[in-house]
Amino acid sequence: MSEPALGTTQRLAPAAPLRAPADRPTLSFELFPPRDVDNAPRTWQTVRALEATHPDFVSVTYGASGRTRTTSRALVSRILRETTLTPIAHLTCVGTSRDEVATIVGEFLDEGVRSFLALRGDPPSGAETWQPHPDGLPTAAALVELLRRIEADRCATSPAQAVRARVKPLSVAVAAFPRGNAVTGSTRAQDIQALLDKQRAGADFAITQVFYDADAYLDLVAEARLAGVAIPIIPGLLATTDPARLLRTQELTGVPVPRELLELLGSADDEAERHRRGIRFAADLVAGVLDGGAPGIHLYTFNRHEAALDLLDAVDLTSRPTPRNP
Ligand code: FAD
Repeated sequence: MSEPALGTTQRLAPAAPLRAPADRPTLSFELFPPRDVDNAPRTWQTVRALEATHPDFVSVTYGASGRTRTTSRALVSRILRETTLTPIAHLTCVGTSRDEVATIVGEFLDEGVRSFLALRGDPPSGAETWQPHPDGLPTAAALVELLRRIEADRCATSPAQAVRARVKPLSVAVAAFPRGNAVTGSTRAQDIQALLDKQRAGADFAITQVFYDADAYLDLVAEARLAGVAIPIIPGLLATTDPARLLRTQELTGVPVPRELLELLGSADDEAERHRRGIRFAADLVAGVLDGGAPGIHLYTFNRHEAALDLLDAVDLTSRPTPRNP
């Protein structure tokens, strides 16, 4: 069949832009590994839907005690192989010796992963307090240091690695806690001290725990800057549409969900209204942190894209220029 003459073809739908506009705040998402990465159509549908928003990166969680070590790696690998996304692999120190962590890092690097989120991790379920492995790493800062040392050793022993490292530098993110870390019982001041340690060890930027008022984030940043923390701190946020999800997040993170938010959602007449109210609440929070100078937003998705995308529609990041330092 010959091509139709010019002017008689149907108009194509406008093509999605090939990449994100450079002049917008950063956008990133958190995913968790499904049980079977090759048989998880819903997660994959979410990955594809999020990819269409051209995020700066997606981060992939890592379960306590290395429970999801294999699946985390499988999801990160598949994202690298099959998508245009840049994955950040979470790593923890829980229940793992220093040598085991080094092996895992080596495996990720061999696959081409160049970005990590270095965490100490929480105690495995059932354990009351966090105890480092007898030969393990005590803090996230020690993990950052190990990542930097492994990379330096690889570059020192292989000129090819050294060139690749220049082209694609290793980047290391860490966690920050707007109202202290409820799980470890630490205060904001203690966590800012830990953040300084992570920066000294070579962290490039931080992502915060979830929070529900812009001041929690803005005060953390202000105090961290006064203490000498210079790395960017990206606010980690939820699309606050689902009360059950919020309560589960509270259980996991120890961050209380404001009663007013639960009442706002609970008093909605129907599901659609609850969704609208949740998106409006989250959009106001995003506006608050971006207006206060946040470099971008990191959305906890729980592997569901719908609410995250509705939130992005509501905040329209492309209408917001890249934040500038004063
Ligand atoms: P650290 O920075 O090592 O801090 C741990 C505790 O030690 C804190 O109480 C801190 O105040 C204290 N501390 C650190 N250094 C010092 C010091 N020099 N002196 C005194 N006290 C110190 N958990 C998972 O298991 N898997 C995940 O994938 C995961 N992803 C996460 C992603 C984000 C963005 C966030 C915010 C958290 C995530 N967590 C995850 C949870 C995290 O691992 C826990 O909250 C953990 O309790 C703290 O980790 P950390 O990296 O902040 O540790």
